[in-house]
Amino acid sequence: MLSNDTASDENTENTTELARHQNLYELINSQYQEALNLDGIELDAEIKTILSQPKNEIIVNFPVKLEDGTTKLFKGYRVQHNNLLGPFKGGIRFHQCVYLDECKALAFWMTIKCSLQNIPFGGGKGGIKFNPRDYSREDLKHISKEFAKALYRYIGSDIDIPAPDMGTDSQIMDWMVYGYNSVSGNTSTDFGVFTGKSLSCEGNVARSSATGKGIVICIQEWAKRNNIDLHGKTYILQGFGNVGSHTAMLLHTLGLSLIGVGDHTCYISNPEGFNVFKLSNHTKKHKCLKGYVSEEVEITREEFFRTECDIIIPAALEMQITRSVARVLNCKVVVEGANGPTSSKADAVLKERNIEVIPDILANSGGVIVSYLEWLANKQHTTFDEEYTNSWLEKRMVDTYNQVNDLSKDNNITLRMAGYWLALRRLSEHHQRIN
Ligand code: NAD
Repeated sequence: MLSNDTASDENTENTTELARHQNLYELINSQYQEALNLDGIELDAEIKTILSQPKNEIIVNFPVKLEDGTTKLFKGYRVQHNNLLGPFKGGIRFHQCVYLDECKALAFWMTIKCSLQNIPFGGGKGGIKFNPRDYSREDLKHISKEFAKALYRYIGSDIDIPAPDMGTDSQIMDWMVYGYNSVSGNTSTDFGVFTGKSLSCEGNVARSSATGKGIVICIQEWAKRNNIDLHGKTYILQGFGNVGSHTAMLLHTLGLSLIGVGDHTCYISNPEGFNVFKLSNHTKKHKCLKGYVSEEVEITREEFFRTECDIIIPAALEMQITRSVARVLNCKVVVEGANGPTSSKADAVLKERNIEVIPDILANSGGVIVSYLEWLANKQHTTFDEEYTNSWLEKRMVDTYNQVNDLSKDNNITLRMAGYWLALRRLSEHHQRIN
């Protein structure tokens, strides 16, 4: 068993999950404080104070009539961190551990991420505290619609634009669009109030793969700078949902081999490399990895993280790479698909061990870049095709990667701190301009 950083800093499914979430706001605050202390960052004093807490923390308790005839009360959150650069923007999560501090942290990261990518959005995040796996599709439809109705006063295509996150998908965004529009009083359907929608609901054709594509672009840029030929390289992946599965399928086309993968049900390994397309079919059908191979070839979570490989991609929950995990990782680079997967103590260990980290604020920002295009298209009553979207995404990711990388090398700071520097400076300059 890996030793704990703190009682709450390890993953034993469910029992410590809530405790782990209590650390998340501390994690972003420690990153923020570290960034504020960087030599030469020179920020406007007022912006430091403004960013230290979210603007709005909204909690709604809303009733939903379920298929079995009973009525249940659900607790939903929407945190609006900052809208200096544009409307609040960020995902909606369906998970049994959704928690106010978690939403506050995730909303803050969205402020940083949008600023880093120079997208005219601020930061928001929300969710409903329940396990979507316990409910039928019909119940999920009603829960989604009622949540959007409960939130309608606080959101809108020029106010706050939610998107999918863990436990939600394009279908859920579509239902929320219809729920919102049924009470908003708009004369025509406002599609721009949510992104990550299906094509039939004015979504963008490349949105579901965008976060994975952004991750893969970062890996390619990292490889270029380190003179690494990616063909034949190995990686392990935690999480095989939207982000994880798209990342895996794109990495396959570059010739990388997935030798370990895990989700909430199991961890499995295959030194010869998994067939990622078969894995994807299995998870689409069964909603988890369990049963893909016989239980005898399963590995433990600890064995998974000890796997010798070139790249590790956490693409599930936050706080997965703790100090004790960081000590045993056997890779060259960690690419943060998930938000906040690495604790502060783990970050320090990885730095000491010369394992580079491509941080969440950069690595998983492809989703919000394409969400921006989707929103823009909705506003202009047009569509952007796959080719245009992907080339726009690629250019933005490569340019930002270069800026972050150059700042990191010139100042001998981590990629994470370089990302914060660029994002905070943009926010600070904007604040000065308008005041
Ligand atoms: P998803 O719901 O599609 O998939 C989540 C995956 O994590 C699933 O494979 C699930 O089994 C796994 N998982 C859940 N609990 C786990 C546990 N205790 N241990 C191991 N695995 C577990 O969610 P997603 O949209 O792929 O999001 C994954 C991460 O990426 C989240 O941190 C999310 O905030 C972040 N992210 C998502 C997007 C997006 O566009 N969807 C964009 C940026 C960041």
